[in-house]
Amino acid sequence: MKTNLLEFDLDALAAFCAQLGEQRFRATQLFRWIHQRGASDFGAMSDLAKALRSKLEGCARVEALPLISEQAASDGTLKWLFDVRDGNAVEAVFIPEDDRGTLCVSSQAGCAVGCRFCSTGHQGFSRNLTAGEIVAQLWFAEHSLRKRFGTAERVITNLVMMGMGEPLQNYSALIPALRVMLDDHGYGLSRRRVTVSTSGVVPMLDRLAQDCPVALAVSLHAPNDPLRDKLVPLNRKYPIHELLQACKRYLVHAPRDFITFEYCMLDGVNDQLAQARELIDLVRGAEIRCKFNLIPFNPFPASGLLRSTQNQLLAFAKVLSDAGIVTTVRRTRGDDIDAACGQLAGDVRDRTRAALRIARQRTIELKPVA
Ligand code: SAH
Ligand code: SF4
Repeated sequence: MKTNLLEFDLDALAAFCAQLGEQRFRATQLFRWIHQRGASDFGAMSDLAKALRSKLEGCARVEALPLISEQAASDGTLKWLFDVRDGNAVEAVFIPEDDRGTLCVSSQAGCAVGCRFCSTGHQGFSRNLTAGEIVAQLWFAEHSLRKRFGTAERVITNLVMMGMGEPLQNYSALIPALRVMLDDHGYGLSRRRVTVSTSGVVPMLDRLAQDCPVALAVSLHAPNDPLRDKLVPLNRKYPIHELLQACKRYLVHAPRDFITFEYCMLDGVNDQLAQARELIDLVRGAEIRCKFNLIPFNPFPASGLLRSTQNQLLAFAKVLSDAGIVTTVRRTRGDDIDAACGQLAGDVRDRTRAALRIARQRTIELKPVA
């Protein structure tokens, strides 16, 4: 089987080229052809020596994931479904805005964390994506968008690891993939414009701070452990206090001077004003610089949960911002093609019975007692 060069960050590609008897600058040229120009045909890489091109043809390939479907929403959001074999498929979403273009990328086929309000979580977990499968989403999206828009300029300016999967539970693939995104010879995205979103895998937060400190979003969703235990089961392993301490340690290395807390607004579950006040005490107590991003819950039938009303959402946001905490409400994009947060479902052959566990949990009462 020929090696797919999308698997490699620049150092790994240089090592691969060294095995072929080539110097590092050749690897750099090759890397630029692949990621900056979107080339996959070695024969067309005109400044590489003929001998190298034919060596590469013999042992390497640059191959995107098979595309199953492409959907465009009325607001310009685009969603792709990619085949990652064995009956699994993952999704990536492009969200155009006036001043930026954001790509949301998947890190796993399914997710083992099993959050109550997340459609990926309900599907269970099949497997980690490889670094190449993560990078392939960006490679394909960037170069097909350039064709679509008829431009040679960069289209994707921001990248968020907010698709399917928990990126910090696929750490060994995440790091090389992030390096390709950040590399000046690759996509040249600054660390501020690449965001890892996590449900709170505490030990891996410390490693990320050392290895590749990009912008961080933490899915908080609850102001206390009893509720967070139910919504984000990983909380039982890494409770809120430990998570906040890890966030503080991360801030020392982070490219921004705050952490973004994501908070999915669930009607009657975590959206009460008393809970907003509890959040204020929580982040003040931990002395952590943060912003809140409130995400209107995107319902899917199996969740049994409802989106907070707009009034409740705004009142909740006001309590936080009156306390001096910068609070934004995420605009829902790509609604009509199920491309909004938490709706990415792809197709997952569950191998962990997570789907079954969640189905059982569905009987847990989440409404707070009035
Ligand atoms: N596993 C990571 C990243 C993927 S989820 C994480 O949990 O952070 C990206 C964001 O979408 C998370 O903040 C997640 O909590 C949120 N999300 C999941 N399901 C959602 C839903 N149904 N509606 C709105 N947001 C949701
Ligand atoms: Fe996994 Fe994130 Fe969904 Fe939770 S919200 S199940 S961590 S993808």
